[in-house]
This record gives sequence, structure tokens and C-alpha cells, in this order.
Amino acid sequence: MQVLKTGSTGKLVTYLQKKLGVDTTGTFDAVTNAAVLKFQTKKGLVADGIVGGNTWTQIYLATETPRTAKSKADRHNNIRHLHPTVRAAVVKTYVQLQAEGIPFKVFEAFRHPERQSELYAQGRTKPGSIVTYAKPWSSYHQYGLAVDLVLMLDGEWSWNTSGSKAAWWARMNQIGTQEGLMRLDFEVPHLQLAGTSSNALRQGVYPAGGDKSWYDNFMAARE
Ligand SMILES: [Zn+2]
Repeated sequence: MQVLKTGSTGKLVTYLQKKLGVDTTGTFDAVTNAAVLKFQTKKGLVADGIVGGNTWTQIYLATETPRTAKSKADRHNNIRHLHPTVRAAVVKTYVQLQAEGIPFKVFEAFRHPERQSELYAQGRTKPGSIVTYAKPWSSYHQYGLAVDLVLMLDGEWSWNTSGSKAAWWARMNQIGTQEGLMRLDFEVPHLQLAGTSSNALRQGVYPAGGDKSWYDNFMAARE
């Protein structure tokens, strides 16, 4: 993803301006720069007027409200529970898609093993069709290293991959891959961290650079 700074132009700049509440000129001008510096200062970021993963993450957190999960077995989509590497990659993927007018949202992020267990039962010991091949602690979702991005059309989640929508899902997979995530052939909405393995994770080998909001949530699920 393109890093934005004074002089940058295009759809990403327009999207940034919309989020910061300044005129949407499509050019990173002095007004945009002032708004970025103000936002970065307010969020305790380095106020350098350069918009990359950290600033986009704070913009996402300031403007997107996660759903309130009512139980462990409920669906969680709070990106704070993702490992920072995955969190930044997901936000950048999301922002790029939004800027291109492709309306994906984070459907699910961290997934508690209890919910994984219930999903695994679906189509096996419970009614419904099979939705996952992963048992608890076999899915990257349990480690805060995966997300599912799903289309949001007219206020409703949509898994429609037919017709003109096919290109949108392909684009989502493409951008995610460029940001260091990988897709799974059998689960179209899913993106997970590339460069590790379920075995490594089960053995307690986690990616470097974790932070407290990722680690505390993940550790609580282990108990
Ligand atoms: Zn998934």
C-alpha cells in the first residue's frame, strides 16, 4: 500500500480526507497535512505527516466500532485482539478496498476456541453444512492471526461471490496477499498471517512484535 504524505494524490488521499473531515480534493495538501499532524499528536503517534500502517490503524479504531461479543462462543471482530503485524495488514487491506469502493468489513478476527469448536461441529455432529476444517487451536483465529473479510451491502453481510462480485473477492485476496497475509483455497473470506504454521503455533512459537491487547486476550483464551 502506498504511504501517503504531502503531494500524494488519488483515491486513498480522498478516503483519508473523508476520515479526517477535511475537503476531499484528492491531493494531500497543507490542510490535510495539518489534520494528519493533529490526529497523530492526539493519538500519541509520531507526528510526521506520513500516513502508513500506524496512522491508518488509529483512524480505523477511531471510526469503526467493533460489535459487542456477548460470550466466548460469540463472534468477535475487534482488531485490537489481532497481533499488531496482522492488525496493520488487515487495516491496510481494508482501507485500500474502501478507497477503491469495494465494501468489505472485518466480519471476524480473534475466535475463541469454544466458538471454533461449535463451528467445527456444524455439518458433522450438528446440523448445517461444513464451515471449517479446523478444530480448536488449529485455526489461526485462535491466535489472533487471522480475519474474515466479508462484503457489507446495504447494511447486510454478503458472501455473494457470483457475477460482478467475484472480482471484488479476488481483489480482497490480492491486496491481503500484498500486505503479508495469505488466503486459503477453501475459505474465501479468510486471510491469515503468512510465514508461520499451525504446528509452530501449537508449540508456542508466536510471531515477534506482539503487544498487550493481542497477548492478554489470547492468553485468557488458553485458560
Ligand atoms: Zn477465517
